[in-house]
Amino acid sequence: MAFELKEHPHRRFNPLTRQWILVSPHRNQRPWLGQVETVAGEVPRAYDPACYMCPGNTRAAGARNPDYKTTFAFDNDYPALLPDTPEGQLDVNSLLVARSESGICRVVCFSPRHDLTIARMSLEDASNPHPHCQIWASASVPDEPAKEQLAQQQYQTTRHSCLLCDYLKLERDRGERVVFENPHFSILVPFWAVWPFETLVVARGHIGALTEFTGDQNDALADALKRLTTRYDQLFQISFPYSTGFDQRPSDGQSHPEWHLHAHFYPPLLRSATVRKFMVGYEMLGTPQRDITTENAAARLREMKET
Ligand SMILES: [Zn+2]
Ligand SMILES: [Zn+2]
Ligand SMILES: [Zn+2]
Repeated sequence: MAFELKEHPHRRFNPLTRQWILVSPHRNQRPWLGQVETVAGEVPRAYDPACYMCPGNTRAAGARNPDYKTTFAFDNDYPALLPDTPEGQLDVNSLLVARSESGICRVVCFSPRHDLTIARMSLEDASNPHPHCQIWASASVPDEPAKEQLAQQQYQTTRHSCLLCDYLKLERDRGERVVFENPHFSILVPFWAVWPFETLVVARGHIGALTEFTGDQNDALADALKRLTTRYDQLFQISFPYSTGFDQRPSDGQSHPEWHLHAHFYPPLLRSATVRKFMVGYEMLGTPQRDITTENAAARLREMKET
């Protein structure tokens, strides 16, 4: 099978910004239901017969979910990446640059219940309203973690220290941007945050990956995530939307001592349940901008209840 730009997943290089864009042409056949806004006051049900993640339901491509009781992981039926993509590349004068990309995409349902969010789940249990996340594993390191890897590597080479260990110490000494802590994690609004209520969940010890957890670090992470998402829900008195993900060392067999495990929370809301921040105009063409200071955002989140 020969690599085809029109058929196979690949990355295209933007020579102006030097960023890569993942293109998944094979996904055109994916069903798109369109954006559905939940009507205010409508209470989601514990089971939705139309949900492709609920236990026992048939998914869009025909597979049937088992009657699962805890968590459930499956390969995404319409993955952006495919494991058997043929190798290939394009390079026209360093201006039209593309490389084939292989990988896997999986879906993890946190709970059989359709109506829960992390904030409303019990600690032992751990968002389509059905609570879930996605695992994307690609052959090349994507742009955002690749930037963080370079920054952490350069910091370690020049300062002989860990960037996030040093940063966390500074923030804990100052305190003004720390929202809360538990014995293993600090939650703070980073000095350079772009989104109004963006936060960083940082391991207090120098840990490179989730797989290095020992003792009660698992429980401490669940505690941190539940308390943070509960504070978000309290902020505007709604189930607060956000994108979140963990950054950890690459799984390439190297030790990567420069990597420090953390998670980013990027919530889009600005002033209320309906006023959101958009990255438009100067922000698309120039650089991101914010009005509310990160110190002020941290103070607001600190005031919120954890119930
Ligand atoms: Zn569901
Ligand atoms: Zn560190
Ligand atoms: Zn990161």
